Formats: sequence, C-alpha cells, structure tokens
Amino acid sequence: MTMNDPTMLADAAHWRARDLAVLWHPCTQMREHPETLPLLPISHGRGAWLYGMDGNRYLDAVSSWWTNLFGHGEPRIAAAIAEQAQRLEHVMFAGFSHQPAVQLAERLLALAPPGLARVFLADNGSAAVEVALKMSFHSFFNRGDTHRRKFIALHNGYHGETLGALAVGDLPLYRRIYAPLLIEPLFAPSPDAWLAEPGESAYHRAVRAADALAAMLAEHGATVCALILEPLVQCAGGMRMYHPEYLRRARTLCDQHGIHLIADEIAVGFGRTGTLFACEQAAITPDFLCLSKGLTGGFLPLSAVLTSAAVYEAFLDDSRDRAFLHSHSYTGNPIACAAALATLAIFHQEPVLERNRATAAAMARLAAPIGDHPNVAEVRQTGMILAFELCQSHSREALPTTQRTGLCAYRAALQRGVVLRPLGDVLYWMPPYCITDDDLNHLARVTASAIAASTRSCA
Ligand SMILES: *Cc1c(COP(=O)(O)O)cnc(C)c1O
Repeated sequence: MTMNDPTMLADAAHWRARDLAVLWHPCTQMREHPETLPLLPISHGRGAWLYGMDGNRYLDAVSSWWTNLFGHGEPRIAAAIAEQAQRLEHVMFAGFSHQPAVQLAERLLALAPPGLARVFLADNGSAAVEVALKMSFHSFFNRGDTHRRKFIALHNGYHGETLGALAVGDLPLYRRIYAPLLIEPLFAPSPDAWLAEPGESAYHRAVRAADALAAMLAEHGATVCALILEPLVQCAGGMRMYHPEYLRRARTLCDQHGIHLIADEIAVGFGRTGTLFACEQAAITPDFLCLSKGLTGGFLPLSAVLTSAAVYEAFLDDSRDRAFLHSHSYTGNPIACAAALATLAIFHQEPVLERNRATAAAMARLAAPIGDHPNVAEVRQTGMILAFELCQSHSREALPTTQRTGLCAYRAALQRGVVLRPLGDVLYWMPPYCITDDDLNHLARVTASAIAASTRSCA
C-alpha cells in the first residue's frame, strides 16, 4: 500500500473534481461534497477491501449497501459474467427464454420456503416491491374481489424509492416530501424489540405488535390486499430487530383474513440473518418473497419476486386484460442471471452458513466491549448484522440530530480505513462473508475509536 503517494493523491483529486462537475450521487446532499464529506474515487476491490485512487484501502464493513456477499472481485462470479456476456448478453424476455433464467428460477424455488411456485424477474429491489404490490392487488381483482385496494405496512419499514415502494415505507427522511404523491397504506406498529417497555421481552413486544395488527385487520381486513414487511430486521430503519414470533402471528392473521403476506427479504435474504432466508426462522412461507441485493453477490442489478401457484393462476385466462402486463426492458437479463447462479453455486459448494455462524460469534465477541461505551445504548445482532445504537450518555435518549454524530463517526472511520456508513446514529457491521479475523479486529478497533471521536467532539 502506497499511503498518500503524491501522484495518487493528485489522481484521486483529479477524478473527484471531474465527478463533482457532472454527476449527481444517490441519497446525498451534494452541497456537502467536497468539504463535509469526502467523495472517494475507488480504483478496484478485492475481498472485503476497496482500494481508493488516493492509495488508501478501505474495509467495506457495510458490503456496499448490503449487496456484496463473497467479496469484491469474487473470481467465480466474475468469470460467469464474462462467459455469459460472450454467449448471450440479452434478449427480450417476452416471447423468449434462456438457460440462465430457467436455471435461476429452478434454484430459487428449490431454496425458498416451501409453497412458492413461480418467479417473476425485475432489475432492482424497488421494482420487485412494485411487482409484488401490483400482483397482489391484481390477483384479488381478477378473482372478482375488487374492494381490496389497501396495503398494510409497518412503522419504521423501508421498501425502496420508487413511488409505490416509497408509499409503503415509513422513513420520514425519504417519504415526507413525496407524501402528496403516494398511495396511503395503513401503518401497523413495528414489533421492533428496541421499543419494548422496561422489563418486556422481545417475544412479548412481538406479541403486542401482533395484537395491534389483529385489531387493525378486524376493522379493515376486508379491504386489504397485503401486509408488507421486512422479516426480522428493519434494515434502513436503523437495523431494528424483532422476534420471529411476530412473523408466525402475522402469517396466521393474514390467512384468517385472506390477505397476502409480502416478505421483503431484499436486504435480509441470502444468509444475512443466519439462515438463507429470514422467514425460515419463523417456519413460514410468504405469498410473495422479494429478493435482490445479494442475489448476484453484489455484482449486477437483478431482483426476483417468488409467489404461489394460487397467485399465478389468478392471471391465467383467455383474455389479455387479466394478464400481468408489467415489464422492464432488461427483465431476466442473462448476464445478471448468470451472476446469480454463480452466487448460489457458492452457497451450494461451500458451508457458507456454517462459516458465518463462526464469523457472527467473532463479531459478537468483538462488539461486546464496545457496548461498554456510555453512548452505546444497545448492541444488537441477528446473524451477520450487528448494530450499535448511539444515544446520550447512559440513556436511551436519541442524540441531538444537530450533533450529526453518525456522520462524524463515518468520517472518523474512513480516516482509519473503514467504511462504516451509519443510519442516523446507528452504526452497524454487515460485512461480506469473506471478512477475516484480522479484518474483524481492525473493524472493532476502528469502530471503538470512531465512536469515541464522534461522541467526544465533532459538533
Ligand atoms: C434496498 C432495499 C430495497 C430497495 O432496493 P433497491 O435495489 O435499492 O431499489 C427494498 N427493500 C429493502 C428491505 C431494502 O433494504
């Protein structure tokens, strides 16, 4: 590593300037570049590490927005992509088919909870959510149940940024300004264990939230198409975690009222929570399972919506009116499907989930002492997701937002060679599965010093 080599620094500055002259970055107040926030041109990635054009390397502790599973530049996935690109890069998916899509659908159905029978492909997580919402509504409509047009979503949930997906999300930061444009779901209380009353267990918190859902359904059940939720971890909502009992009860309640359960496993799927899919921990099968992010190992945009034979059959008819006339130009892209197949092959060839259990235990061990800091109100973990809730000293009171503690911690960690991109004042680890013990030690040291630095000064 050539730390701060002057030519490399100049290179990084050169690309940063060209970027800031023409690009508009996602989820970013561009005014904060370049002063408050550094913009980091990256030249390449290997394993859990990103290599900056400035000559520094950065440990990707957040898996590049939760997409990367087996490391940057994973050679088997890269090779599958190169091979497929030379064979068939794309063909429209209406009227045409290809091996990678067929094999991917077969593999996903074999791995998913039992009872799912069909796969609809799209190209990002938000699009998958749109597909599930539209399919649910439309399937009831096709069966003559035209009164069902409401959705129920959870407080603090997140399902993406397009208007339909944003509508069923509940994060004011993203939703508030667009509210006048959005369909209005019913929001049910979150089972989030952080919200438990003093002395209340995560289990009882989940039961209480399920009781509130039951009451909402008793009143509105006949007009609802579906309940949408993120199983076990509300990721964008601050890595808030909950007991699987909520999923079991939600499944039962949906059945009782004849409504669909949409499981948005876009972030938590593919082993993040310890099981391949989070729903497995409640032994439930949703009516729709939305997958994306890790699906291609973090290489290419692709999403899949798995659904039941019953939903599929509601669209079968001699008339086109009843068909699901939704498409994206790149639906079923063969290169993305090949990347997904190579990713699933790794799960098949290697004891990934077993190895992750050891990694998750190491994460827990290293995080525990960090939890002793007076500003860390909670350390919580579900499988390969571990979060630190930063609060006022020795309390569960939120820090003043004007202090921008999370942003401060982000900058402090970057200076020490780690990408920790907090959600508000929640710092979290969601690393690629290839992270080593040495990397984890480095991550823990940097996290501790970033928390110390950001809570000490930095206003
Ligand atoms: C990221 C995410 C989405 C949106 O996926 P995009 O590919 O960013 O559109 C939807 N739901 C959940 C739970 C997510 O974490």
